[in-house]
Amino acid sequence: MLLKTTGLVIFEKKQSEQDRLLTILTPENGMILARVNSPGRMKGKLAAGTEFLTYSEFTLFLRKEVAVVDAAEPKRLFYGMRTDPEKLALAAYFARLTYDLFSSAAKEDCAGALRLFLNTLAFLEEDKMPKALLKAVFEMRCMAMSGYRPDLSACRICKKSAGDMVFFLPQRGQLICSECENHSAEEKIPLNGDLLCAMKSAMSSDLKEAFSFRLGEKNLLCFAFLAESYCIARLEYLPATLRYYKSICESLEAYMPPTFSGENPEKGSL
Ligand SMILES: [Zn+2]
Repeated sequence: MLLKTTGLVIFEKKQSEQDRLLTILTPENGMILARVNSPGRMKGKLAAGTEFLTYSEFTLFLRKEVAVVDAAEPKRLFYGMRTDPEKLALAAYFARLTYDLFSSAAKEDCAGALRLFLNTLAFLEEDKMPKALLKAVFEMRCMAMSGYRPDLSACRICKKSAGDMVFFLPQRGQLICSECENHSAEEKIPLNGDLLCAMKSAMSSDLKEAFSFRLGEKNLLCFAFLAESYCIARLEYLPATLRYYKSICESLEAYMPPTFSGENPEKGSL
């Protein structure tokens, strides 16, 4: 059976000199595993359309387990990222997260993941948003879309609705208020109204909202830290791609644990 579909290459594995195995994230057919055999005259064209992080119009022969790529016309190459090792490393982490969280997901969820990934790549390529914020938004949104939406409505113990001074519990994805926090020894991250809004905006049903807010430096530091902490807690492992990104990241301070010890982070800079 022949299938024509657009798709983003989120994984590429060389199998031999001529054979590569791709994972393609598509808008209507979920994730497709496809083999590229690129000898002879098609080599150049197929090579361009099947590179990692290329969004292409594919023609695929569907087989039992692994499809075969017949043609691939690149629609968007995200060329601006390929020359920047930091951006490429961050995108590789996004690809890993997407694969791990959506490889068994329903087709509609994969469509949402593709929309998020394409928007994120465009923002990353064109420097439209600080990398630390883009990463945090991507992490929070991926978590929410894959069934790990944190409960930000009320304190997990007294059930009072989230006021001005609450803490986020990354291991649980819940909040705890300042009155109840003394009863809990687990890791907690202090929040303020702006950070709560940032978390909600990142996970908003409106994708535009997720990319349209900005944070001041200290709030951004907290947001980056809490999104990453929550993501790792839910994944239950530290992805090698994330470790690599952090090892080459120039703005490393954005990924250090904040140094505050319980005081309210800055306000009013959302
Ligand atoms: Zn409470």
